[in-house]
Amino acid sequence: MRVAVTGGAGYIGSHAVAELLTLGHQVTVIDDLSAGHAEAVPAATRFVRADIGDLVAMTTALDHHDAIIHFAGLLSVGGSMKDPRSYFQTNFIKGLVLLDAAKAAGVSRFIFSSTCATYGVPRGPLNEDHPKEPVNPYGVSKRAFEQVLEAYARIGQVRAIALRYFNAAGARRDGSLGEDHTHEEHLIPLAIDAAAGRRGPLTIYGDDYETPDGTCLRDYIHVDDLARAHVLALDAVERTEAPFTPINLGTGRGTSVREVIQSVERVTGTKVPHSVGPRRPGDPPALVAAPQRSLAILGFEPQVASIDEIVETAWKWRKAHPQGYSSER
Ligand code: UDP
Repeated sequence: MRVAVTGGAGYIGSHAVAELLTLGHQVTVIDDLSAGHAEAVPAATRFVRADIGDLVAMTTALDHHDAIIHFAGLLSVGGSMKDPRSYFQTNFIKGLVLLDAAKAAGVSRFIFSSTCATYGVPRGPLNEDHPKEPVNPYGVSKRAFEQVLEAYARIGQVRAIALRYFNAAGARRDGSLGEDHTHEEHLIPLAIDAAAGRRGPLTIYGDDYETPDGTCLRDYIHVDDLARAHVLALDAVERTEAPFTPINLGTGRGTSVREVIQSVERVTGTKVPHSVGPRRPGDPPALVAAPQRSLAILGFEPQVASIDEIVETAWKWRKAHPQGYSSER
């Protein structure tokens, strides 16, 4: 299949590109490199450096493609609280332009990178039918774009799957790709850097939640597993009952902040210096997927089974790339 991957130079996008190439697909990476890394784009792809809001560039880039996997977007909950407009501009308005280009280029198969932040604060099991009441502009922007996809799907303009990720983590198991964000806010890379002495002690955001050890529970899923799910979705989207289908991607297993710290300590053989601080605004106590639909529709089951395996891959990449991708320049 000829697949266009927006945001293909980013963290999850680059892992999906690697998986697509392994399976023999032809890949066009579309990325403006505002957050992605040229070093993460394999030579075997066609690379288009452009903004997804550029209708002419997108229409040209998408010509003769069978499908789009749309990762490009802004992704931080905290960032969206500070600058919500950018989130609506990039994740929603530019997404509409991409859909205009897809229509002009005749591409109707669409896989969208969505998030469990579309649910808001859990009120029961987090299956796909859980109410969608996002509590931050990031979640609102992703949910709004899902609704556009659903509306376009109903009139036959697209067939779409929205993959709602829980906590993407780890690095490609062959060591070739990893996580490199300019302003890192995620727990696992921060804990690893704290253990390695590359940054100060980690702050646990609250230990007074109603969870087994008082810290937040999250569902960490390995980025290679996420990547594989996107490739499965490319086929599944042609045979789903509904033309728009949201699917959770998680393991169904909750891991607390303290358990992540213990895992980083086991894997690195070093203590993670840390202290306990106040809760972070907008953090639900527990976000754990009900993952049944991903198995039923995609035939997807995570292969990386334990938090230690996830942390090991992240640690391996960080040791080889202490400055992230800039270590390679
Ligand atoms: N967390 C923490 N300290 C940090 C970063 C994160 O205690 O420096 C906690 C955060 O409150 C959440 C979990 O770790 O409960 C995962 O946070 P992350 O930002 O990695 O992902 P999120 O769940 O927000 O998407």
